[in-house]
Amino acid sequence: MADSEVIVVGSGPAGLAAATELARAGRRVTVLDREAEAGGIPRHCGHYPFGMREFHRLLRGPDYAARLRATALAAGVTIRTRTTVTALLPGGTVEITDDSGPATLSARAVLLATGVRETSRAARLIGGEKPGGVLSTGALQGLVYLNNQRPFQHPVILGTELVAFSALLTCRHAGITPLAMIEPEPRITARSPAIWLARLMGVTVRLQSEITAIHGRTRVESVTLATPTGPTDLSTDGVIVTGGFRPDAALLRGSHLQVDAASGGSVIDRWGRLSDPAFFAAGNLLRGVETAGWCWSEGRRTARAILAALEGKLPAQGGTRLDLAHPGLRLAVPQIIGPGSATHDRLQVRLAAPARGHLTLSQGGRIVASARIDSLPERRLSLPLPTAPGPGPLTLTIEDRP
Ligand SMILES: Cc1cc2nc3c(=O)[nH]c(=O)nc-3n(C[C@H](O)[C@H](O)[C@H](O)COP(=O)(O)OP(=O)(O)OC[C@H]3O[C@@H](n4cnc5c(N)ncnc54)[C@H](O)[C@@H]3O)c2cc1C
Repeated sequence: MADSEVIVVGSGPAGLAAATELARAGRRVTVLDREAEAGGIPRHCGHYPFGMREFHRLLRGPDYAARLRATALAAGVTIRTRTTVTALLPGGTVEITDDSGPATLSARAVLLATGVRETSRAARLIGGEKPGGVLSTGALQGLVYLNNQRPFQHPVILGTELVAFSALLTCRHAGITPLAMIEPEPRITARSPAIWLARLMGVTVRLQSEITAIHGRTRVESVTLATPTGPTDLSTDGVIVTGGFRPDAALLRGSHLQVDAASGGSVIDRWGRLSDPAFFAAGNLLRGVETAGWCWSEGRRTARAILAALEGKLPAQGGTRLDLAHPGLRLAVPQIIGPGSATHDRLQVRLAAPARGHLTLSQGGRIVASARIDSLPERRLSLPLPTAPGPGPLTLTIEDRP
């Protein structure tokens, strides 16, 4: 460990993919994870489909995580589990704690790949009582796949983004039959084919509806929904709360590194490099939720930037700061855009509210890239980045033109 050239914090798809790529290039890499087993969130997703992009086959989450681990170990990566990183210090130093107590480790580069957190029921300000049986998808998956439990029989699912369908598949695995998926917007957040999964499972999707209160003394007994035709009560024994993803950036907030107020994750340049050039970031820590395959690919590309940095081949820091010039925009990554064709050749964007129009990147009054959008928060949006941006700020906005 003492002579690792790269430390990777987080052993999800992004962290393990990056570590494998670096080790294959002959670098000494150590991955640290606070969990007992490496693999990140897919370890808890006992359903398909994982692995097509990475291994050209359909795998369940735990099998996919096992393959990521085996591939990393075969490449020569050292994986240390039950090891929590507690602080990030300038120049590539991290403080950790494990069974033998606290310690300080240093490397020439540190990759942060700590993933996302879900927004809890409390943070969503849903009224009513506080009975048992209200779970995030992550908590549900922990109970079902790791502890073989069935916490309820007929819950409702609040949300319709990617992870809500992961919750649906988890329910199917456990023999749980959800009553409904509840979505405040007039259409589901995930791309439309996902709705067929709900239909195939016989689950009603209630659009333009919100849970305003949860009732029950010890266990959930019912929820009150606000619907287009007025409030209605639905008997149910559980609520699965999905979505509202935020980068798991606790480490960043207490550190010397720049945090992006918009995303809550790290500020990166187009190489995935942070304000201290010894640190890089990849995976869902950057923006909220993306698929495992996306994070894996991002981890590999970021590893190539780290390799270039170790060889002294990465351009100096600097570039144009991106301005978000529309209230409907929640975040865009990377935030610092210099010249070159790099790890991030596209701007990744998320909306704060449903929007229709043209997503437009411009510089000095000139449009650099634009795409028509008709989209929802949490959906993937992107624009190509210029390889040679001129001087002056780059501005991202949503234009209401035909
Ligand atoms: C509940 C849920 C279900 C999902 N279901 C799917 C799905 O079905 N399909 C899909 O493609 N995607 C799914 N996703 C998206 C998922 O986030 C990605 O698939 C992928 O796991 C992201 O990879 P990552 O490497 O960015 O981070 P993660 O997989 O989240 O891994 C981050 C790792 O960092 C570790 N870590 C964090 N902080 C520290 C620290 N301070 N010290 C040490 N270790 C630390 C964590 O223990 C974790 O192992 C789901 C997400 C959630 C939240």
